[in-house]
Amino acid sequence: MRVDQLRRVVFRSSDARLLALAAILLSALPGWAEPVAGSLPAQWNIGANDCAASPQPPLQVHTYEPQTFILRQSPCASFEANFIYLLIGSDKALLIDTGAVADPKAMPVAKTILELLPDKDHKKLPLLVAHTHRHLDHRAGDPQFASLPSVQVVPFDLERVRAFFGFTAWPNGIAHVDLGGRTVDVIPTPGHNQTHVAFYDNRTGILFSGDFLLPGRLLIEDAAAYRESALRVVEFLKTRPLIHILGGHIELNAGGRAYRFGSRYHPNEHPLELARADLTALPAALERFNGFYARYPNYILTNPIHNILVVVFAVLVVLGLAVFGFYRLLRRGMRRRVD
Ligand SMILES: [Zn+2]
Ligand SMILES: [Zn+2]
Repeated sequence: MRVDQLRRVVFRSSDARLLALAAILLSALPGWAEPVAGSLPAQWNIGANDCAASPQPPLQVHTYEPQTFILRQSPCASFEANFIYLLIGSDKALLIDTGAVADPKAMPVAKTILELLPDKDHKKLPLLVAHTHRHLDHRAGDPQFASLPSVQVVPFDLERVRAFFGFTAWPNGIAHVDLGGRTVDVIPTPGHNQTHVAFYDNRTGILFSGDFLLPGRLLIEDAAAYRESALRVVEFLKTRPLIHILGGHIELNAGGRAYRFGSRYHPNEHPLELARADLTALPAALERFNGFYARYPNYILTNPIHNILVVVFAVLVVLGLAVFGFYRLLRRGMRRRVD
């Protein structure tokens, strides 16, 4: 072998070694590694036309991957049919929301979660129970966890949510929950409700979005804050993998039509998962929002307070016209009697 041939071989082998070293270093970096893959069912429990005639289990438990569980409350148990998420790390587990039903007999959330929790040092893995926001359908199950050992429930009022996660410039800044080999980022997302946060899981690349973004009605309390939140989440996820956006409810059918409010039957239900395009379209949709109602393929923007005010105003106008008409009829009748 000539000297220049030998040099080429040596160079090549050192290149290969450098590449291998770079691959090892990259795989050891936190956060941006390839997300762990999982699966979602084609159809969740859709409730029933007649819940009394077709009883069904209160909770549907789905294993997305061995350390990530999705629980759906049956639409028959509560029309809200909340989704609850359990993320398991090596030191701790995180439960996102406790659902819409308080009664442990009708809805055994805590019992089911404890059965899913693995043991560590001959005890159940410690559990942190947090909420996407304070609305009752996301925390009605809290009392079931209150007296359990190794369970910590995050309070739901804004002051204590901020203090617990360590937000000093709410709604700016990102908090982190370390579950051991699994970090969950907490992103303030007020707008639907002032206490709202979204959770980004670096293991699966899933954004758990609560009522901030879901295939259903996005109920807007503060449109400006909502838009700021949407921009904040878009910016945060710009450089991160985003596999799915999983919210707190499904309220649309596959054609994008909303079920009647309070419906316990969701035939041909829209998939739970939304994608990055749904999120990136949100800031502009909120900017264009007319304050009442706007339909998009995978969600509906609505302000329930404004809509109620419109209905109240319409009722008052109709009532006013009726009173006015009655008064005129009365006066005409009296004039006739005088004549
Ligand atoms: Zn809500
Ligand atoms: Zn909700």
